[in-house]
Amino acid sequence: MSPFSNPLILDILAKYRTIAAMSYSSSLLGWDMEVNMPEAGATARGTVQAALEMLRQKMTLNLADLIAQAEKQKSLNDAERGVVRMIRRELDFYQRVPAHLLEELQKATNEASIPWRHAREKSDFQTFKPHLERITDLKRKEAEYLDPSTHPYNALLDLSEEGLTIADLDRIFAELIPKLKAILAKTISGGTFAAKHPLEEMDYDVQAMKKVNEHLITLLDMPSKRFRQDISTHPFSIRIAGDDVRITTRYEPKDFRASMFGLIHECGHALYDLQVDHQLDLTPTGGGVSSGIHESQSRFWENIVGRSRQFTPLVYPLLKKNLDILDGYGEDQVYSYFNTVRPSLIRVEADELTYNFHIAMRYELEKKLLEGKISVAELPSVWNDMIEDYLGKRPPDDAQGVLQDVHWSWGQYATFPSYSLGNVVAGMLWNTLTKKGLLPVKDEKSLSLLKSWLAENLHKPGATYPPKELLTRIFGKGYDPSGLVRYLESKYLSLN
Ligand SMILES: [Zn+2]
Repeated sequence: MSPFSNPLILDILAKYRTIAAMSYSSSLLGWDMEVNMPEAGATARGTVQAALEMLRQKMTLNLADLIAQAEKQKSLNDAERGVVRMIRRELDFYQRVPAHLLEELQKATNEASIPWRHAREKSDFQTFKPHLERITDLKRKEAEYLDPSTHPYNALLDLSEEGLTIADLDRIFAELIPKLKAILAKTISGGTFAAKHPLEEMDYDVQAMKKVNEHLITLLDMPSKRFRQDISTHPFSIRIAGDDVRITTRYEPKDFRASMFGLIHECGHALYDLQVDHQLDLTPTGGGVSSGIHESQSRFWENIVGRSRQFTPLVYPLLKKNLDILDGYGEDQVYSYFNTVRPSLIRVEADELTYNFHIAMRYELEKKLLEGKISVAELPSVWNDMIEDYLGKRPPDDAQGVLQDVHWSWGQYATFPSYSLGNVVAGMLWNTLTKKGLLPVKDEKSLSLLKSWLAENLHKPGATYPPKELLTRIFGKGYDPSGLVRYLESKYLSLN
């Protein structure tokens, strides 16, 4: 039964259908661009996407009066309030940030894309520097337009993490980082988890790995009529509609776990999108509520379920059957390969114990940059000092330092923290679900119980409640890193 009955909300939702149709089309075009489109199609696709975005902006602004009326209504239920809140967030953005600034940003980021790639290839920061200066300047302006009364980081952070502030992040990282450093030091000195594994260097048969991934999708019981997977350079998950969720994966010549855990990660995102209440489909709340909560789902499945000792026997037989390179490697060996621990200079290669260091330092760096405490010219050396402080290693060049991530060239500032928030919420889930006996996952039955619990408690409301409220409804509190610390201690130090 539809949760919507207020006549004004029904009117808003009827008008919102056209906006939803545009989001649907843009998502599909975005998916196609990564999976199917011939390279030369990019220019026309960019123009079409920009035109759709303009149209979407215009139609959202047309809802301003109705939303203002709805905000005065006292009898709205949770689902209806969620709709009003989500459209208000969009309206605020479009009403506060002038179109010319968004166009300038679009232009600046388009023009930065190739210089960033070249800069990274040649490890030459100077090529990218003027572009980054321009983008940083525009992002400062955007923050100022969004909310001149707050720290520029808060203004930008709120776009991906509703209601979150630097006070929250300072608290989370202050609690998390020293504890992670202690766990890492003990794990390395304990020697139970290997720093390297021979399977990392071994080429695998791509066709055989594709079969493994097909089996994994079956094991995770992804619904074949509502879900598909393809190949793309950068793996991602996208919700086209509630019954049409897609993921991509990639196959590199060696180190098969990257493909496998990438697939499980994206399935985690997809499950969230697939299990949102169908009644919310094509409404503003019919999807995940924030990047951080979305990332909690992917990381929960990838790390807490996928890299657990109890999950290894579920996948080992199908790996062994399909991959010749596993000759001579038993279950324990494969588990050890799934869980190597070594500080890496590259974020995307980081393990569970060191990943959050990469995010904490980017957060500090972005904050200082937006505040104007450091300049773009100083970034490479400040980066190197900070990462050395966290990992005890210094990047030999900027390609392995400040130039490694694409985010800033896209104008994405204040989006890195979502990855750590995802880990934190995944840790909270571990804590709660272990107490309930739903973890660890041992067989297909426990997998299905786990999915149902997530659907009921986390997925179903979509974006109806803001992230902190959603967490309070599930856990009785907001972001709490102690669950993640306990999870890592129990896994790496065998402490409970
Ligand atoms: Zn993800």
